Amino acid sequence: MVSFEEARTIIMDCVQPLGIERVHLIEAAGRILAEDLPAPWDMPLWDNSAMDGYAVRWQDCTNTPCRLRVTGFLPAGAKADGITVEAGCAVRIMTGAPTPDRCDAVVPVEESDDGQQEVTLQEPVKNRQHIRFRAEDVAAGVIFARSGTLIRPPEVNMLAGFGMALVPVYRRPVVAILSTGDELVELGCTPGPGQIINSNTLSLAAAVQEVGGIARIIGIARDNRESHVEKLREGLKADVLITSAGVSAGDCDLVRDVLEELGATQMFWKVAIKPGGPTAFAMFGTTPVFSLPGNPVSTMITFEEFVRPALLRMQGYQQVFKPLFKAVLRDPLNKKKGKVQIVRLRLEKERGCWFATSSGNQQTAILKTMVDAQAIAVLPSESSSFATGDEVDVHFYGNHIELEPL
Ligand code: AMP
Ligand code: MG
Repeated sequence: MVSFEEARTIIMDCVQPLGIERVHLIEAAGRILAEDLPAPWDMPLWDNSAMDGYAVRWQDCTNTPCRLRVTGFLPAGAKADGITVEAGCAVRIMTGAPTPDRCDAVVPVEESDDGQQEVTLQEPVKNRQHIRFRAEDVAAGVIFARSGTLIRPPEVNMLAGFGMALVPVYRRPVVAILSTGDELVELGCTPGPGQIINSNTLSLAAAVQEVGGIARIIGIARDNRESHVEKLREGLKADVLITSAGVSAGDCDLVRDVLEELGATQMFWKVAIKPGGPTAFAMFGTTPVFSLPGNPVSTMITFEEFVRPALLRMQGYQQVFKPLFKAVLRDPLNKKKGKVQIVRLRLEKERGCWFATSSGNQQTAILKTMVDAQAIAVLPSESSSFATGDEVDVHFYGNHIELEPL
């Protein structure tokens, strides 16, 4: 038996980022950049106008109102070659168009009479106003995105601006998902007496995909050695294998034995956590193998606390554990000393504080309170009871967009 913290340390020591692949920018969002990227050129590449208006020499416009002759027109996309702002003149210019020679300020059209041949400017003009200067955003050669950065829409925009269609990112792990048990039937079948639908496979696939993994569904290993050998062998070909059930101390719990027979090294079995105690973790070469308990709530909680961080690390994420924050209990909570207890919670924010209520019946077999949970409290092993008003460490569970962080 290992502690919650030991289990996490063992797992995180065993996993590392997978290799690098180059993906098209359209698929890069949500991935982690695997190289430092220097700007291939200046951004912007030439001085250009930040406004629709007039390109001027600012010293012509220090005494306003002033009147200038309009000698040219530069729409966005035009070339400024050969166009010069002569003394006492202006060039009509649109946002994004390159500024012409001798231009040192742009006057917004709103501060003029919008003249076509001649223009009257109302406001005093400052040197360099409304010009975006070459390289003022990013200069050529500067690292504009570092390895380990999460690619979000702003990174996508900058990568696209630099013409980078292919982006080096860490590979997504292929995660084999295997359920075990004679009582299971697949979705689409009507369960007979004693049978239940294999819901864990689908829920694990959803969880794997939510964190960027590629789910490979292996199916069901029946409660006999041959079936376990066949299915586990198949699962071990993936980057990660997750099994559910068959890992407790029951007569039909074969997962750990067969994994060992196939050459996996058990790193731990049993964690001082409730729910989720019988969790086992093994390594088969570089393939981590998570053997999660079969009870759907235990499967999901152990995925959340142990598998999710590992899958994130394998994709190059640096921040792999969900940040904990404090919530004030609305009701007392009791627990046994010696184990970390995971409690499913509803959250409410009041006067800048989070308040937590149990989402209901916390028994392992109750799925509905997991469905209703917005957050999870991780109650420390050494504590025994919490009173109303006590603060506990919690983290969000799932994407509850109705809850904004403090
Ligand atoms: P076991 O670890 O095999 O004793 O299973 C623990 C509990 O989880 C039993 O009630 C199983 O019926 C249930 N269970 C096991 N596998 C699944 C699964 N794939 N989907 C839903 N429930 C399951
Ligand atoms: Mg079983």
